[in-house]
Amino acid sequence: MFNKVLIANRGEIALRIQRACRELGVKTVAVHSEADRETKYVKLADESVCIGPAPSAQSYLNIPAVISAAEVTDAEAIHPGYGFLSENADFAERVEQSGFAFIGPRAETIRLMGDKVSAKDTMKAAGVPCVPGSDGALSDDADETLRIARSIGYPVIIKAAGGGGGRGMRVVHTEAALLNAVNMTKAEAQAAFGNPMVYMEKFLEQPRHIEIQVLADQHGNAIYLGERDCSMQRRHQKVLEEAPAIGITPELREKIGTACAEACKRINYRGAGTFEFLYENGEFYFIEMNTRVQVEHPVTEMITGIDIVKQQILIAAGEKLDISQQDVKLSGHSIECRINAEDPFNFVPSPGRISTFHMPGGPGIRVDTHAYQGYMVPPNYDSMIGKLIAYGDTREQAIARMQIALSEMVVEGIKTNVALHKELMADDAFRHGGTSIHYLEHKLGIASK
Ligand code: ADP
Repeated sequence: MFNKVLIANRGEIALRIQRACRELGVKTVAVHSEADRETKYVKLADESVCIGPAPSAQSYLNIPAVISAAEVTDAEAIHPGYGFLSENADFAERVEQSGFAFIGPRAETIRLMGDKVSAKDTMKAAGVPCVPGSDGALSDDADETLRIARSIGYPVIIKAAGGGGGRGMRVVHTEAALLNAVNMTKAEAQAAFGNPMVYMEKFLEQPRHIEIQVLADQHGNAIYLGERDCSMQRRHQKVLEEAPAIGITPELREKIGTACAEACKRINYRGAGTFEFLYENGEFYFIEMNTRVQVEHPVTEMITGIDIVKQQILIAAGEKLDISQQDVKLSGHSIECRINAEDPFNFVPSPGRISTFHMPGGPGIRVDTHAYQGYMVPPNYDSMIGKLIAYGDTREQAIARMQIALSEMVVEGIKTNVALHKELMADDAFRHGGTSIHYLEHKLGIASK
């Protein structure tokens, strides 16, 4: 096992990784920007290094600064968390070239999955079901493009190979609009991602977002930890997540989970990962793979009893997975509400000092947060200040516990989206379950793209 791990992230995930390290007896190095200097989790780490001013580009995204911090503190491994450098293949490469272990997949795997065309080709070849669409990138041949769209059937969606974060996509409803849409998406993709490659997919009208969590070690073992439903989204940003997903039978879970675990073996995957799917009419369609820990990993931890972050560290240290597929038993139901410092209904960020902070507790309640009374939410980063996670024997019990927890939670001095979560817990369609990715935006009265 490593002696010391450097955590190249901030906020709740930095604290979450720190806790996993401490449980394993591993020392931690927190790196932080000037804006995060006074935080409690930085003080809780064994060592800390300031890596630059508040703007992420000069601190959390500053590769030479992160590597130097690892060098001066004699860390042996770097955990990238989520966001920031976590899916940057060049970073992973530099980390390993500098003699540290990267707690995540190999750089070449990150690169392969970071390009959506190569990711989809790879998954198709590995037997993972994909959205019907073009074979790879679209060529410049207009007739060919028209022919592909006709064979898929309208509406179609044009997506940039280098796209991410919900950007670089355009839905096309008619043949008359197709070629213009392709050219516009190409031009935008070139400008935004430096890569003009685009591809075409059938546009699914009312899908759910269901994803499969996997773990793979360096000895050829790979397992799946069931699925999460993350359909409650606004502007492609997840608002709440749950596990398991309503309506997924054990047979369906085993079929899709096995396909994902087999794909991991085939591409020599290492670490934790998530296969994201759109799910419609009983069918799964792969859209992308995330090669890192996800914000919503706790709901899977709650129903499996498996500590995903600890597993990431064990795998990076070269340990064999000590959990077999038969050992993975799903039990009960878990829901996570992302608590954001923002207006609950117009979503305008609300940074500032937290004057009052009371977190809920009781049976089945978990709070993952780096915030506390007196904490200053900086304006420079993502607005998420924590996650409230509820567990119950049934979905109804998880919802009831979440409602109690939300009613106990007090955060003053800044605005939070707690009111939105209260409304969602009482929402008939949510309580019934199985809503599509468009449900929240329709409910909020925002015209869906
Ligand atoms: P990103 O990397 O930008 O998040 P994804 O490929 O994961 O891109 O797609 C983001 C979102 O766009 C999906 O969650 C879904 O809402 C929508 N989307 C993507 N592809 C399709 C499709 N073929 N049909 C319908 N919606 C889609």
